[in-house]
Amino acid sequence: MKSLLPLAATLFLSVPGALNAQAVPAEPVFSAAAVRAHVEFLADDLLKGRDTGSEGHEIAARYVASQFDGLGLTPAGDAGGWLQRVTFQKTDPAPERATLTVTGPGGTRSFSHGGDVLIGLSAAEPHLDVAAPLVFVGYGLENRRLGLDDYAGLDVRGKIVVTLRGYPKGMPSEEGAHLSATKAMVAQSHGAIGMLSLGTIQSMKARPWARMVQFADASDFTWVSPDGTPFDQAPGIRAGASLNDPAAEAIFAGAPQGIAAIRKQADRKGGKPRGFALRTSIRIRAESVSQRVTSPNVVAILPGSDTTLKDQYVVLSAHLDHIGISPAKPGDPADKDRINNGALDNGAGVATMLEVARAMAMSPRKPRRSIIFLASTGEEKGLLGADYFARHPAVPIGKIVGNVDLDMPLLLYPFTDIVAFGADHSTLGPIVAKAVAPMGVTLSPDPMPQESIFVRSDHYMFVKQGVPAVFLATGFANGGEQAWGAFLSGNYHHPGDDMNQKIDWDAGARFAEANYRITRAMADGDTPPMWNRGDFFGDLFAPNAAKANK
Ligand SMILES: [Zn+2]
Repeated sequence: MKSLLPLAATLFLSVPGALNAQAVPAEPVFSAAAVRAHVEFLADDLLKGRDTGSEGHEIAARYVASQFDGLGLTPAGDAGGWLQRVTFQKTDPAPERATLTVTGPGGTRSFSHGGDVLIGLSAAEPHLDVAAPLVFVGYGLENRRLGLDDYAGLDVRGKIVVTLRGYPKGMPSEEGAHLSATKAMVAQSHGAIGMLSLGTIQSMKARPWARMVQFADASDFTWVSPDGTPFDQAPGIRAGASLNDPAAEAIFAGAPQGIAAIRKQADRKGGKPRGFALRTSIRIRAESVSQRVTSPNVVAILPGSDTTLKDQYVVLSAHLDHIGISPAKPGDPADKDRINNGALDNGAGVATMLEVARAMAMSPRKPRRSIIFLASTGEEKGLLGADYFARHPAVPIGKIVGNVDLDMPLLLYPFTDIVAFGADHSTLGPIVAKAVAPMGVTLSPDPMPQESIFVRSDHYMFVKQGVPAVFLATGFANGGEQAWGAFLSGNYHHPGDDMNQKIDWDAGARFAEANYRITRAMADGDTPPMWNRGDFFGDLFAPNAAKANK
């Protein structure tokens, strides 16, 4: 099926000729071949899946830099170059298995990592040995606005807190996902030194124990700040572990309420089990080995044309890294394809960004605000390159007025709608909807709110620094829902995400046009994007910024 471009062209032709020639400047043409060419290069086996810190990712970074260079953009990386080099600390388990020992009324029981406990590694302490009494703190959440006060009346100073995974049933999912990710900081603020987490009925359904065990030995990455300290949002929480049932039952020995009753209570809508001191204590021992690797973000600026507004910046970002090569499994044939090429994740997003950059640089009508193009690293390791950039930006963070992030646009069908995760929180929702309307493309609401995607990609690192942001993806209409379902259960994070997929390159050109129109609208508007008045995230991260009436 053909794209909607002919329809848009027809609409333009219906404009009286004189007006068309004079008042409407030529819009750039978006090239399916250019999008394909970028993805072809980035998804080549030679780049071996563009893992953070790998040579393949370095090659990809040079490719993007060289494209930026050819477009005449301004380098905005380190020391006048295109690359912002980020140092990462990579921590792996030592050969001896970490252990968690429970002592209490039921006696002493030891569990080793990978069985009924999964013990987190410490980037700061290679020979971790922490022992303390336990306090159950419910979900371990605190937020006045949402009526969460799980530490009320509990003394956790010098102790290890025991939390339920997730957030109360029925709470808005984006707020819930954000607060869940801050539990260690809350525990630290109350003086705790460790944190254990237990599954709820709901969380165990979504993420069974066996699945958690599968990922338990992946390397742990964090970025290292220029002063040499590995970043940790809660360094006071020295030890952490997840517990399966036998271990959970052991720590509740002699407790007034058991884990089964607590889970039942948590499974009711709005259920918030109250905390209490446990009668057990634990000791966690974990040996780890760390090494440092570096990997670059690639950063370019297209200076704005408006003498005043060019001091404000819109960021268009896409992660360049992917997950590298899958380890061989016993019994694999020798020629088995194990390279995760990441054609759609996120070759497609980077290609889209490059095509937008080309159109923007070639346009006779320069954007009023300046535009930063960011190809980030370390996304697959936990949004690390974007976090580093947002905390060490090329221009002061207060001058960055908005971010659009492109991650894994599914260019597998002729999309007719797009989704902007986060559209409800700021004026970016209406900006996006209006920008793509002339293409016959509509903005759809988040089709999977339970996934909290708003807090799960690079753009969220900008949100946390107070910048309104959205994550843009192709929508569920016109075959999209089926394509998303098939991709997520098939080629996603799999060697099959390569050039053998039936990629719709016309959809790529149209997605680039959509993003060009959106980025332009953000760059050209008289007012910059703004948080909506009363929005949870705007109030939390940009309390003093001007707000818009929704
Ligand atoms: Zn991915």
